[in-house]
Amino acid sequence: MVQTIAGKQVAEWVKALPLLDEVIATREVYWNNPNQLPVDEMGKNAKLTMSDVMQAEQRLRRFAPYLTVAFPETKITDGIIESALKKIPAMKKQLEQRFKVNIPGDLWLKCDNDLPISGSIKARGGIYEVLKHAESLLFENQFLQETDDYSIIAEPKFKSFFSSYSIVVGSTGNLGLSIGIMSAKLGFQATVHMSADAKQWKKEMLRDQGVNVVEHVADYSKAVEEGRAQAGADPNSYFIDDEHSEDLFLGYAVAALRLKEQLNKKEIRINKANPLHVYLPCGVGGGPGGVAFGLKLVFGENVHCYFAEPTHSPCMLLGMITGEHNNVSVQDFGIDNKTAADGLAVGRASGFVGRLMEPLLSGIYTVEDAILYELLADIADLEGIQLEPSALASLYGPVQAARVRDVTKHQGTHIAWATGGSMVPQDTMLMDYQKGKKQQVLSIRKDARSAD
Ligand SMILES: *Cc1c(COP(=O)(O)O)cnc(C)c1O
Repeated sequence: MVQTIAGKQVAEWVKALPLLDEVIATREVYWNNPNQLPVDEMGKNAKLTMSDVMQAEQRLRRFAPYLTVAFPETKITDGIIESALKKIPAMKKQLEQRFKVNIPGDLWLKCDNDLPISGSIKARGGIYEVLKHAESLLFENQFLQETDDYSIIAEPKFKSFFSSYSIVVGSTGNLGLSIGIMSAKLGFQATVHMSADAKQWKKEMLRDQGVNVVEHVADYSKAVEEGRAQAGADPNSYFIDDEHSEDLFLGYAVAALRLKEQLNKKEIRINKANPLHVYLPCGVGGGPGGVAFGLKLVFGENVHCYFAEPTHSPCMLLGMITGEHNNVSVQDFGIDNKTAADGLAVGRASGFVGRLMEPLLSGIYTVEDAILYELLADIADLEGIQLEPSALASLYGPVQAARVRDVTKHQGTHIAWATGGSMVPQDTMLMDYQKGKKQQVLSIRKDARSAD
């Protein structure tokens, strides 16, 4: 019997959607979303709204006084977990030279690599959901009201209260870090199910915090499944579900409100003449989806959001092209889901996020691991910024867009979302940097050969 994928054979899929041929061969592609709808249309159908995002923002504000006590590094931002928006002109020039393209408009980096507490975009959604759960437990037991000063939560009696509850999550690494650190700080028992791709240092860092780390030899989807099963068996256990959670999603979406303020302060006006192009590395989809959803609510037709995936883990792309979302996986199409971009090593995208983003997303592009390393070395050399491989996928966006879109469509302000980096140990960072430098030499040789 011939294997089918969501009811069709691979050959049928490829015949209907020729781009799949390239995707299956793990060649870089750029996909323009043909299913985009006007923002007004999307507003009618989406089950989440601006008011949900604003409630999340207010909840984070209630917790700010607690965060300044629990994590003193957040004092300078009054307990608000936020990152800088930095202009990176030298990197822009380098991208133009390296890839022989013209990028019209300024290029900015959204520095989530520097987010306090856990050093990645997961410090938005992951921490938000842990705080929301903690708040609801305190409300239920009448230990807290919305109008209280939340810094009292740092008192030892709350830590002992939370110690009879547990929080469980499945992760490729960074979500585990952010949820593990936050849960442990509040006093919860925390268990993180790590996929095979998770970096060793991320596991060690969590164990140092007293988090129970369960290692799996299988990939991310399996780690999530195991976590869900464990938590389901215990009424005092709460599972943070990266594939389905609306709370995680809303925590990420709050970024859009903050970005709007940052752009205002820099007097960058986003409008028809100066649209915003935002490039977001995508794993299961919650992080980039939440941010993009928030941005669409804030900027409407004047923002264009693109997801970036490794050529070996294009799960959101496959879900979107086929329209089958979480019914298909990269493995179904014979793709191995092996990438150095551990944060993006996901074989099956979130169906909830895929369906929500379908009418909103401008496009998806894929990028080879080798290029991630080259860009990692470039941005360290030129801007003094240290990123982990996943984050570099964002910087390839303006290049891919410049190659395939006409310049008029591509004008405006570009933001590459740097999703992680500051927690990476220096020896790991140095090894990645050296890999990038070597790769750059190899690429130059290859270019020279193909020019002959
Ligand atoms: C998790 C992660 C992403 C992608 O977020 P998803 O919610 O999995 O799509 C991107 N970059 C880094 C560094 C991450 O850790």
